Amino acid sequence: MTSQPPAPTSDDLTCQEIVEAVTDYLEGALAPDDAARFVRHLAMCPPCHGYVEQIRLTIRMAGCLHAEQLAAAERERLVALFRGWRCA
Ligand SMILES: [Zn+2]
Repeated sequence: MTSQPPAPTSDDLTCQEIVEAVTDYLEGALAPDDAARFVRHLAMCPPCHGYVEQIRLTIRMAGCLHAEQLAAAERERLVALFRGWRCA
């Protein structure tokens, strides 16, 4: 009776797949199973870990810029709304 151990690499993501899936991962768009495999790869692959951290920082900075722009647009909308109230 021979039992074959599961191939350890068949289920693991490659560095190429990490690069392709990084934005989905950071946006929480990966399926839980894929996210678990993603995290497992990062745990054993420092270059990918560093890469993902770099992308995460970039997205955070871009997100801040975006939020500021949104805030400015929202403020203008509120100011217009206040003007409307004052006139009414
Ligand atoms: Zn890797």
